[in-house]
Amino acid sequence: MKILKTLSQLHTWLSQNPHPSFVPTMGALHAGHLSLVKKAKQSTKPVLVSVFVNPAQFGPDEDFQTYPRDEKKDAKLLESAGADAVWFPTEEDIYPDGKRPKILHLPDIFSELEGRERPGHFLGVAQVITRLFSLVKPSKAFFGQKDYQQTILMHWFVEELNIPTAIVICPIVREQNGLAMSSRNEYLSPQEREAAAVLSQSLFLAESAFKEGNTDIKYILSKARNLIKKQREVKKIDYLEIRDAGTLAPISKITRPAVILLVARIGKVRLLDNIILSRKYMK
Ligand code: AMP
Repeated sequence: MKILKTLSQLHTWLSQNPHPSFVPTMGALHAGHLSLVKKAKQSTKPVLVSVFVNPAQFGPDEDFQTYPRDEKKDAKLLESAGADAVWFPTEEDIYPDGKRPKILHLPDIFSELEGRERPGHFLGVAQVITRLFSLVKPSKAFFGQKDYQQTILMHWFVEELNIPTAIVICPIVREQNGLAMSSRNEYLSPQEREAAAVLSQSLFLAESAFKEGNTDIKYILSKARNLIKKQREVKKIDYLEIRDAGTLAPISKITRPAVILLVARIGKVRLLDNIILSRKYMK
């Protein structure tokens, strides 16, 4: 596996491996990230992974400074997952002279849900993706369903700008107790990590209510909310909503594929999870 540390190393590698399969990450890699690499390996193109903690997508009171970073460990994990190259850009590579790319106005939906809780977050994601995609020109790019609203942003982005990159969404990889894997799980104490299982359990409970034939959103959400309330480690629910799975528009009844989106705080850690509610996925 090649380790690329400069733009000129990246350009040289790309000249031999044009339009690769691309997995953008912020590092502190875990099995969720590696599942994206393994999926990317099924394509015919070489797999390039970027590791860049993007300052533009963090709010002023967020954890940009303390976000876990470990290049050596990440490179080892990527090599074992079969990546062909890893690229560690500097901030100057991505935002030369501190300049961030200008972004078209994002649709209003990106000011809701995560966008409401983290103002400016999706603008920052759009800025880094603009720069990464314009340098890498990937044929395919791989993202996790865990950041559901981000996957909607990626689809919007390539359509709006006519970018010839196929967006591939990969399922959520979970810890044994059901907790969605996340780099920020490292911040949890063992006790909090155990308690955090309630989040996915609440979503699975909501899913069972839906599978039993319930389509009323208030009813389905009350099932999930009541379970979460029993766990005292959950300090706050930032949001728990069911939205249209394709557009994220609010709905009151499930008549088309929907998604239940949950963000809750355990200790100081914000944890995201979601599950798609669709007849298509029913056994
Ligand atoms: P991040 O490093 O947090 O920016 O994540 C990089 C990519 O990995 C994003 O597309 C995430 O959605 C994806 N990802 C993170 N956690 C998981 C997970 N548990 N399962 C699948 N994909 C994930």
